[in-house]
Amino acid sequence: MDSTIVYKIALFFLIFNPFQVVALEFKGEFIQGHFILGKTDPGAKISIDEKELKVSKEGYFVFGIDRDHHNDLVFTKIFNNQKEKIIKKVQKRNYAIQKIDGLPETKVTPPESVYRRIKEENNRISIARGINSNLIFFSEKFIMPIEGVVSGVYGSQRILNGVPKLPHYGIDIAANEGTKIKSSGTGIVTLAEKDLYYTGGTIIMDHGHGISTIYSHLQKILVKVGDQVRQGDIIGTVGSTGRSTGPHLDFRINWFQTRLDPMSVLR
Ligand SMILES: [Zn+2]
Repeated sequence: MDSTIVYKIALFFLIFNPFQVVALEFKGEFIQGHFILGKTDPGAKISIDEKELKVSKEGYFVFGIDRDHHNDLVFTKIFNNQKEKIIKKVQKRNYAIQKIDGLPETKVTPPESVYRRIKEENNRISIARGINSNLIFFSEKFIMPIEGVVSGVYGSQRILNGVPKLPHYGIDIAANEGTKIKSSGTGIVTLAEKDLYYTGGTIIMDHGHGISTIYSHLQKILVKVGDQVRQGDIIGTVGSTGRSTGPHLDFRINWFQTRLDPMSVLR
């Protein structure tokens, strides 16, 4: 067949597609720890590994990939009684090992007397991260909350005073005490606490569909639970409260209980 005819037929199918395909677009990379924004036809149902995701009336949905996720991700979309499956491979990462010495022993291995306090605080953090609101602020770009040197990255395995601990899930940004912290995105404050055992002055914000951000080790907290904060608003100042060796901001982002790499949302 003449190549111009092939071209014309291809063009015909592009313009007048007779097979009604459901739109399903992803913004983000399928890499461990990454945040991925999705867009589909309003009214479509989207599931990931058989867990149904909330789809906004505009067709937005969101999810995150765990630090150690190994399997392929299986998406199902249902729209106008049509069902389609999409399989996405997840790229693996190598994480750094970070050794920190000189921390007060009580902060590395807490004394039994504070177990209950830590458990109660972790519970409150986990409730804040579990909120599944209809906000769709997650669909907007997020920004760096402060300028500064990134001194700790996502995913690194931490060895504190020689004891292996859970991986580090935030990014640490070193800055002077008192540096103003901007809200990375627009959202609603769901936790604002002056003195949590590990994270010190802590703010958690909800951005919708299970996406939350956490700001830790704050010196001052300038917002309260229920406040709606716009991106760029000053929410607090840098400190060294909680388990910290010097003034810095620990900034995190979660999809429910899954911790994500903040660098994958700071687009
Ligand atoms: Zn940190």
